[in-house]
Amino acid sequence: LVSRKKKPDDTIVSINGENLGDGKAHFIMGPCAVESYDQVKAVAQALKAQGLKLLRGGAFKPRTSPYDFQGLGLDGLKILRQVADEEGLAVVSEILNPYDMEAALDYVDVIQIGARNMQNFELLKVAGAVRKPVLLKRGLSATIEEFMYAAEYIHAQGNDQIILCERGIRTYEKATRNTLDISAVPILKKETHLPVVVDVTHSTGRKDLLLPATRAAIAIGADAVMAEVHPDPAVALSDSAQQMDIDQFNDYMKEVKAFAGKI
Ligand code: PEP
Ligand code: MN
Repeated sequence: LVSRKKKPDDTIVSINGENLGDGKAHFIMGPCAVESYDQVKAVAQALKAQGLKLLRGGAFKPRTSPYDFQGLGLDGLKILRQVADEEGLAVVSEILNPYDMEAALDYVDVIQIGARNMQNFELLKVAGAVRKPVLLKRGLSATIEEFMYAAEYIHAQGNDQIILCERGIRTYEKATRNTLDISAVPILKKETHLPVVVDVTHSTGRKDLLLPATRAAIAIGADAVMAEVHPDPAVALSDSAQQMDIDQFNDYMKEVKAFAGKI
């Protein structure tokens, strides 16, 4: 169902006036994790000032260590919803557990399925049954084919509002957190009709690579870019090394807009 052979035209996923798949570059920005109202508010105001419409933030966090911050859960989703409504933004947030899906639908505009859950088939089926867009991230070690099959699970349940997200894969290379598989973007665009996002934060894990990776993503045909922004990354409860602060975000957006305007 996700194959371009089945449906030759691009699927456009519309969220809060942003049409992912329309050939323009879109941006999904926000903190790694929701920590407080003030933290989300500061980021949301910066997004709004840049004319962006899509706010990300994790309330349920899939942390490698059980002793790390696990997220604020439903309270985090409530903060996201309140701030997003105040600033005219849409909420993109990860759901880890099928049992949280129904409650989350009251607060979230786009359900994110994280890399670690790309092959959590029961979660995929539940996401396929909801009538909201799903942002599906590529698994840490998933092939492109496995990634497309995961999207197929969602579509097979009747939900065709799927956004694919390349977020880097695990390789032997240690210079970056993961290896951004940039060629996955045109392959996914060719093989499927779905919009494709590149997460430059989790793929590179390096602030100095966010801008070049974003340029590469836009140049190669990505429909959107995801990156993390935090008012004070040094004290962030997760991913503190790689989130942009607000000034860095503003500089980044200036460069990105100049680049996107050129191509
Ligand atoms: C995230 O986007 O918050 C996240 C945890 O990313 P990933 O699932 O790609 O590791
Ligand atoms: Mn993160």
